[in-house]
Amino acid sequence: MSEVERLLAQAARGERLSREQGLALYREASLHDLGAAAHARRSEMHPGRDVSYVIDTTINYTNICNVHCTFCAFFRPEGHAEGYTMTHDEVLARVAWAAEQGATQIMVQGGVNPDLAIGYYVELFRAIGERFPDVDIHSLSTSEICGIAKRENMSVEAVLRTLRAAGLRSLPGAGAEILVERVRKRISARKIDDDRWLEVMRIAQGLGMPTTATMMFGSIETDAERITHLDVLRELQDETHGFLAFIPWYYVPHKTPLRGREATGIEYLRVIAISRLYLDNFAHIQASWLTPGLKLGQLALLHGADDMGGTILEERVVTLAGSSNHATRADIERAIRQAGYIPQVRDTYFQRRDYPLATPA
Ligand code: SF4
Repeated sequence: MSEVERLLAQAARGERLSREQGLALYREASLHDLGAAAHARRSEMHPGRDVSYVIDTTINYTNICNVHCTFCAFFRPEGHAEGYTMTHDEVLARVAWAAEQGATQIMVQGGVNPDLAIGYYVELFRAIGERFPDVDIHSLSTSEICGIAKRENMSVEAVLRTLRAAGLRSLPGAGAEILVERVRKRISARKIDDDRWLEVMRIAQGLGMPTTATMMFGSIETDAERITHLDVLRELQDETHGFLAFIPWYYVPHKTPLRGREATGIEYLRVIAISRLYLDNFAHIQASWLTPGLKLGQLALLHGADDMGGTILEERVVTLAGSSNHATRADIERAIRQAGYIPQVRDTYFQRRDYPLATPA
């Protein structure tokens, strides 16, 4: 048995990989072998035939941002003619539209806009909670939280406690990109650093607000830096157990200042597979279909992913970077069925929602 075969068997059994072992597998195992081991692990962890998805929407309430990441085509600097901030009524109208379509999760997310006081968020979240009590407010990146803390001269914990009291229930894992200092200095020099990202997550999870974790891969990072990213997330999860899921998605370069090339389908599937094998303490790996498209998202279900993420009824950040993928609930359910699984609507916390499917069984 070769060393790679031994490591694949070890990982498929759920035994922890060291950083060196993870990197060796990621670099040297064939896609077929890596995917098979990840699928075996996923099948052991989730033995039923259900594959879940959440009915959700992303509302990009402002594009004004003082962070200026070079991989971002969405933001506009302060004072720019194309900058916008939605009124509460505009956001609420979008929530109402999404709720009519069964959305149970709202992701309010945008730029780090220094003009917005904490009261903007408090009043907005209260209004959403009063009008749409069945909708989970799963919102704001670590950068936005830190931006509010800086503007208001408050601690991150005080900001999170205030927003939680207003109705914020959980945080998306946005803004992680690659949690390695060298990479962040090149692609997001003005953003909070890797330690700060982890610290905000630690504080939120400690307050009982679960979060997800993401990875934006394919900009300038090395293979080893991808594994380091997984490693720091695994370490924090050992400590807090507060991450609900891991969502790797690839960088869309077409309209960004950073430019570069888009990851290939093989690269995407390899990242899904190594994520399943390396993140032995994460229950769920999401097939992030928005950037690679639904067909690759479907294949991810056979390479370690157990969840199709969300419907993302409305989204601008990735779309403005040059992605044109859209999928209806029926499309998502058909993709799940044809991969050999049964679609299942879930909520933010991966609990089954008794909500009718869009397509007949
Ligand atoms: S990725 Fe987020 S923080 Fe960075 S420039 Fe875009 S909106 Fe701002």
